[in-house]
Amino acid sequence: MGDDAERHGAPEGSERGALRRSPRPRTAAIHGGEPGASERIDGAVAAPLVTSSTFDLGDPETFDDIKYIRLNNTPNQRWVCEKLAALDGADAAVVLPSGTAAIWMALVTSLDAGDEILAPFRVYGGTRKILDELARSHGVTVTYVDLLDPTTWKASEKTRVFYAESLTNPWIDVPPLDEVVAFARQRGLVSIVDNTFGTPIAYRPVEAGFDLVVHSASKYLNGHTDVVAGAIAGEAERIERIRKRMNLMGICLDPHACHLLHRGLKTLSVRVEAQFASARTLAAMLAAHPDVESVRHPSLASDPAHANASRLFEGYGAMLSFTPKGDPERARALVEALELAVEAPSLGGLETLVTRPITTSHAGLPASVQAAMGIDPRMIRVSVGLEDIRDLVADFERALTESARLAAAAAE
Ligand code: PLP
Repeated sequence: MGDDAERHGAPEGSERGALRRSPRPRTAAIHGGEPGASERIDGAVAAPLVTSSTFDLGDPETFDDIKYIRLNNTPNQRWVCEKLAALDGADAAVVLPSGTAAIWMALVTSLDAGDEILAPFRVYGGTRKILDELARSHGVTVTYVDLLDPTTWKASEKTRVFYAESLTNPWIDVPPLDEVVAFARQRGLVSIVDNTFGTPIAYRPVEAGFDLVVHSASKYLNGHTDVVAGAIAGEAERIERIRKRMNLMGICLDPHACHLLHRGLKTLSVRVEAQFASARTLAAMLAAHPDVESVRHPSLASDPAHANASRLFEGYGAMLSFTPKGDPERARALVEALELAVEAPSLGGLETLVTRPITTSHAGLPASVQAAMGIDPRMIRVSVGLEDIRDLVADFERALTESARLAAAAAE
């Protein structure tokens, strides 16, 4: 973080100084990772975009300290990493060109050939492909477990990593994350969690004891559907090792993307809290609708994720999934009948997005894997946006009625 106490004249140890050194997430999002006094131009309050790829050499201690964009240490890269670390309650963070790159980098820096990783069988489809590739080309053994059932977790002397997701995609399950941490700690495993769906507002993995947290920053963290980025946060020495590996591989996030992400992060809490509230309302409407077979959202008292989410999270997230009655064609017609919600394969932005996982996040997996994972071709995943919730509810109600009418007409 910049030298905020000095900038604002807050005496060391004063309440304001203390608040600025270890702020709560909502405060960290605003004040973490801002330019220090010497970096502010003409007293500018908002951080500038610094596009220079290289800088005066100065007196760097190591190669990785030479200021150059590829070495992940120029001003916008630094500020956004510091803001992310403050938000996650972590020592340090790195940003990468995508969430996928963050997952890769967290895994390859924690695993060597011959090592074993425990990973959820029901995992984001992109991560499943990464894990299968690590097994194929890096000599890593991947053991798939049921993250919801600790009795299926077994470590061997080769196990190095336990990988988890805080909210699973697209089932919106909440695993017993405290038990994942305890299991990993007892066996000396590196625990890694993808907190993309959770966000640091609902769940704070580093404080909960995870060694590394990975995010697709393309989703809620940026929040405006206009950046692709990833992030990893954790303990300083681990993150420094990752940054050096990124430097070696030429992996860095451009300052323009860093600047947008830095700006997006400032409104994270207000955005997601409003989205969490709307998701609750939409889930309740869908759960009561006669044309809906099932709904998954942890806010519903009857939902299998309700107990763990209530225990571990602040809020229930803004992702939900539901299965309409009828055949896959009806589900397709329903998605097409939506006017406000856009059918698009991402999440976490201002606009409500819907996808059918069979055609997006879990497309490209063998049909047998899709079936074993329980990917129902009718399942619709919803990323609830920031529209007026009354308009959203009306949009889904109308699309349900319209798709029922089309299905009845087709059956005649
Ligand atoms: N993790 C989760 C849970 C995701 O849903 C996604 C993408 O949808 C990713 C990681 C990958 O993120 P990116 O698209 O930024 O590579």
